[in-house]
Amino acid sequence: MEWPADRDGCRWDSVTGEHRVYLQGVGHVRVHRHRPIAGRVKTLSVKREGRRWYVIVSCEDVSAAPLPPTGRAVGIGLGVASFVTTSDGEQIDNPRHLRAAADQLAEAQQALARCQRGSNRRKQARARVAALHGKVRRQRLDHAHKVALALVRRHDVICHEALRIANMARSARGTLAEPGRNVAQKAGLNRSILDAGWGVFLSILTAKAESAGRTLIAVDPANTSRTCPSCGHCGAENRVTQAAFRCLRCGLDTHADLVGAVNVLRAGLARRDAAPAA
Ligand SMILES: [Zn+2]
Repeated sequence: MEWPADRDGCRWDSVTGEHRVYLQGVGHVRVHRHRPIAGRVKTLSVKREGRRWYVIVSCEDVSAAPLPPTGRAVGIGLGVASFVTTSDGEQIDNPRHLRAAADQLAEAQQALARCQRGSNRRKQARARVAALHGKVRRQRLDHAHKVALALVRRHDVICHEALRIANMARSARGTLAEPGRNVAQKAGLNRSILDAGWGVFLSILTAKAESAGRTLIAVDPANTSRTCPSCGHCGAENRVTQAAFRCLRCGLDTHADLVGAVNVLRAGLARRDAAPAA
């Protein structure tokens, strides 16, 4: 449900130090505030997730907080083995607790699938899946905020792979090919849960970059993981496995995710330089 702030539809008051919202038709409700409100409140939305209720505040006229220039540019790619790989060779993994929660969620989803329809056990299993979904979502958001903030602080220009659904299907298939029946199935499920964070991450990165006055450049991911950054040779055979890259022409032997990130950076800078100056 969403309430517009005009015509007294809703109000965010924190006059007394106790944070409350007023919602038309509901009245005053006490809330736990995560951080101070910036700008002018435009709408309040209320949402329920499992057993928790949330108030989402959207504001306008939020002043940007530009960061000092660093003179640095970076390319980032969705890693096969890790969450994000940068063109500097840094690999940022999903935190262990998020992996553990994704494991638990995969297990809970399998348990739910085994329960009989309409049974009490199924109801319980569904509640557990919902609770774990919320946990994974909150941990993923927290991690995405931290990684995005670190990237925005250190770089003026960030080039990234444009979001493409095929990327996710490919990585899920790659892990499903691992040996072991149930292991692979769960790993695939777990993988897809973790991969779902890429879109969330990009939207958080976009918002932070905009507020900090940084430039974000989206690059077509076609061929970024197959082209040799050293000699320019391009071919699917360069990609030995999901994780390994070996150039057939010049013999460059390195990590496939790093190759992708370096190519994303180059393609992004080339696009920026080709565009007419605004
Ligand atoms: Zn090469």
